[in-house]
Amino acid sequence: MADVIIVGAGPAGLSAAIYVQRAGKTALVLEAMTYGGQIINTPEVENYPGIKSISGFEFATALYEQTTGLGAEILFDRVDKIEDMGELKKVITAGGKEYTAKAVILATGAKNRRLGIDREETLTGSGVSYCATCDGAFFRGKPVAVNGGGNTALEDAMFLSNYCSKVYVIHRREGFRGEPATLELLKAKENVEFVLNATVTRLIGEPKLSAVEVTDKITGETRELTVDGLFVAIGQTPENKPFEDVVDLDPAGYIAAGEDCLTKTPGIFTAGDCRTKSVRQLTTAASDGAVAALAACSFLG
Ligand code: NAP
Repeated sequence: MADVIIVGAGPAGLSAAIYVQRAGKTALVLEAMTYGGQIINTPEVENYPGIKSISGFEFATALYEQTTGLGAEILFDRVDKIEDMGELKKVITAGGKEYTAKAVILATGAKNRRLGIDREETLTGSGVSYCATCDGAFFRGKPVAVNGGGNTALEDAMFLSNYCSKVYVIHRREGFRGEPATLELLKAKENVEFVLNATVTRLIGEPKLSAVEVTDKITGETRELTVDGLFVAIGQTPENKPFEDVVDLDPAGYIAAGEDCLTKTPGIFTAGDCRTKSVRQLTTAASDGAVAALAACSFLG
């Protein structure tokens, strides 16, 4: 039993826990994987106000320590279901545990989108990766490719270009979603080659990846790029299905909620990347965490 149960220990969930504890209430955080959410895989965070540069791992660890230092409890167990029992909410985990709280904050983030092509699963860990910071060092001095055009892809490519012999940036169109400043830095790198208007259509190599086939979306021509690694950075998808009894989901599966972080169920709030929003950043995750926590504390009275 806690005043507020927070589902997810990413930046939104941990920020919420900090605000709950500082409001004099108790926060229990339940996390399926590890603390930090996606930021833990980001090589360098350089756009969080007040911190010039920090690795995602250091940032996440500092956040974790700050949260537990304030007395919040963090348990590692996947939440499978939430039941609205009126004044109390029952939270049921994969480990078979049941917790109750007067308020719940869903801060479940999102998971990496898959390419959805043949042998992707088989080659994951044998050349295909979704995390440049985790796996980049295995490809020192070797050619690699990064697929995607958002901030993750650009930052991954920057990071990898520092020690890989060659970095192809494969993107399905010419315009990038990622920050122009990072794009400009990347364009100035001699070992970076952009492969635009292209998609990855085949993974080649047995038992390890040795090349990727890319198909030009305009001409239909295919080309093989000799690479030891492919870093897939094509965005995220939410995982909110288990909660559809208590919250509305938008067509893409994100929890329908505005900037006030309220869901359709009184006492159930949401924060961070898992909710419908246009800007998914560390700053907006932290902001949501504060908004949702203060709303939950005011709901508790
Ligand atoms: P994202 O911004 O959603 O970008 C995903 C990229 O993958 C887009 O360029 C998209 O192409 C492409 N894509 C999507 N589906 C694809 C498919 N099936 N095949 C090929 N390409 C596909 O995702 P993200 O880069 O992971 O970033 C997620 C959020 O985190 C963003 O809000 C980002 O700004 C934020 N982020 C922030 C930081 C930071 O603040 N330091 C670092 C990393 C990420 P289109 O552009 O054509 O749609």
